[in-house]
This record gives sequence, C-alpha cells and structure tokens, in this order.
Amino acid sequence: MKSVFILCLVIATGLAAKVHYDNFQVLRIFPTEERWKQDLERVLGGEFDIWRETKERIDIMVGPKVVKKLTDMLKRRNIDYDVMVEDIQSLIDQERPSAKINIGGGGSDFDYNVYHTYGEIMTWVTDFASANKGLVTEVEVGESTEGRIIKALRIGSQSSNNPGIYFQGGIHAREWISPATMINLARKLVEEYGSDDTATKILDAYDLYIIPTMNVDGYVYTHTNDRMWRKNRKNYGTACTGVDMNRNYPTGFGGKGASSNPCSETYHGPKNISEVEMEAVTTFFLDLVADGQDFHLFIDFHAYGQLWLFPWGYSRTAPIVNDYNDLSNGANAAAAALKSVHGTEYFVGNSARDMYPAGGASEDWGYDKLKAKYSYIIELRDEGRHGFLLPEKFIEPTGDETYAGMKNLFQTLLDDPNPIQKS
Ligand SMILES: [Zn+2]
Repeated sequence: MKSVFILCLVIATGLAAKVHYDNFQVLRIFPTEERWKQDLERVLGGEFDIWRETKERIDIMVGPKVVKKLTDMLKRRNIDYDVMVEDIQSLIDQERPSAKINIGGGGSDFDYNVYHTYGEIMTWVTDFASANKGLVTEVEVGESTEGRIIKALRIGSQSSNNPGIYFQGGIHAREWISPATMINLARKLVEEYGSDDTATKILDAYDLYIIPTMNVDGYVYTHTNDRMWRKNRKNYGTACTGVDMNRNYPTGFGGKGASSNPCSETYHGPKNISEVEMEAVTTFFLDLVADGQDFHLFIDFHAYGQLWLFPWGYSRTAPIVNDYNDLSNGANAAAAALKSVHGTEYFVGNSARDMYPAGGASEDWGYDKLKAKYSYIIELRDEGRHGFLLPEKFIEPTGDETYAGMKNLFQTLLDDPNPIQKS
C-alpha cells in the first residue's frame, strides 16, 4: 500500500528524489478478532505498511496524517497497542551514524561493521574471492530486472563432488542486516578454516553458496530513493512497482499471506517465478541438482523478529513434513548456541502453524524443489525496537551470534548419518 501514499511525500533533492519519513510511526497492535484487519484499508485508505505480522500482533507503519485515525479506531474497538517507533526518519538518520563511503574491497581495509552499497558489496565479493583462492570462488548467478549482476560466493576446499549448502540474503530490500550478516558469516568461516574443527570439516565436506544480496535492484533503491522499499523493481504497467519475491516461489504460490494486488507489499507477481531474479537463482541451483549435486541445507535470511522457521509455510492445514523432528531439533540446538553468545532469544517453529501462512515463500521451495532436508527462514534481529532500521553497531554482535548458530547447525549436518529428506 505504501507506494501509493508516499508519492506525495517525495522531496526533490537535486536529481535524486528521496522519500522522507518524518513523524511516521510504527504501532504494535494486538488484535482480538481477525475481522478487524479488513477494516484497516477502509479506515486508513491504504495509507499503511505492515512491517511484520504474527498470530498475536501486527507491527504497522503509518504516516502522521493517519496516526490519529488509526489510534481512534483502536480505542473505539478496545484493541491494545504500543508505539514501537515514534519517528521513523530519526531512526533512519541514526542507523548509519558514520555514513561512511567505504570502497575497500576484500582486503584489510573493508569495514565489516557498516552497511554497504550494492557496488561496494560486489567489489568485496571479487576481492574476497581473489584473496582466498582455492577456497572461495566468485560466481555470477544472473541479472536483475534493471540489468545488475547477482553474485554468489562459492566456498569449499574441494573442486567437485561435494553436496551443497545455500544461504540467501537480501531478498527483501529493506532488511539490511541480512546482506551484512551474509558477508560476516563468509568472512568468519573462511578465517576459521584450518583452525576451527567445524569450520574446517564443513568446508571440506560441502560447497557453501552464499548470495549476499539477491534483490539487487531493490537494495540499490533503498540507498538512493526509499529506505523502506521491500520488493524488486519490476513494473507490470500498473500504478505500483515491485513484486514480493518471497511470494513468487512456486510452492503454495498464490496462497494465504500473498496478494494479487500490485500495490500490496506482498504482491506475488503475475505467475510463479515471473521475476528474472527468481528465474536466475532458482535455475542456477536446480541446474546444480540436475547435475547430481544434492543440497542438504538452505537458509533464506530476513529481518526482523528473531525467528527460526521451517516448512510448510503456505498453509496452516498443510501436512507435517516428514523431517519435522530433525528440522525442529536442528533449529533448537542452533538457536541455543546462538543465544549463548549474547543472550539473544529466537523463537523456533513451523512457519504457518506457529506464525503466519505465506504462500510462495522460500523455505517451502527449499524443501519442495531444492530438496534440502534442512530448509529454513531466519528472521534476524531485533524484536521491533528498530525493526528494519537496526543501527550499525548491532552488525557485529548479530554476525557473531548467527555464526555460532550456523556452526552448531553445520555440526548437526556433519553428525547426521542421513542428511537427505525422508521420502
Ligand atoms: Zn523479509
């Protein structure tokens, strides 16, 4: 809905027009009846953006003109709410205190604790691969709608015949902690190869593919135009631009939690895998599978909410997957290892039953099509204090704890006598 109402807020600054969010707020609402949500659009006229939704609560961003309309409505209906963010623009301004332009590549001058632009990340991928020859390879996976290259790192000590692991970052453009964490995971793993037992064994036994930022056009747009942009930048000739690529996967496509309205933040696109970015990444990995490489682990990294979720996500009435226990146990052990670093708590559960159904999402594709026994969606920090606008000072602790969780999960893989799906 957001793209309709922000048009009037665009302020021209030279050539680039940047959206400002002065006095925009995020309210956390605790609805007691499902029906209530249907009135949102009627009362607010589409002028809202749902940041996050679970069974019990909805985080919703609204502009200054409709805050009162919304709170009046909530009071009338006796619905509880908290103000999570008082002023979005001041959070945006605090997110990158340094606002450094860091052009450093994979060498010692690269700052791992700032949010980087698309161009900086692409340079880092190239430099990181060339600085770690024999262990890291740069791979071009495909091109975006606007012609940008989507890159992956392939990390592993063997040249062939190992099974695969696939980590994906940044499918939702505004979730900046996701690409930043992908970069930090790659760096830590490569640094510890040869000294840490699990890091060494996993890179000897697997090919790990990491796509730091998958939705490259959207990511650029969050830097140049609108920090709160979520979707890609494809326009199908309608008033609104962008497809939610995490509703564009084939498994459960068009189901609950996805919209057929191009102006919705969860617009699923005209058909499954309609998006060129989606076509590129899914073809790349399914071709590897067709060539005989089995994938044992897939994780799509998002923000925010501190959640570790597994299939099925498309429906609350979908059957329990055959590997439910191993998926659950693996995630619970990893979440405990993660927590041991800084005390950060994650909720582990089934996507649809324990949270909210989302048709056409990645973790279902990972299980259904990639055939990874361990297929997850992770929602990184935080729990809503900053939401998508997590300040840069949290990049390092998020990377440290997530790495601990990943190492625990790698050990689960290495210890699993049969890390392929039960049929
Ligand atoms: Zn997301």
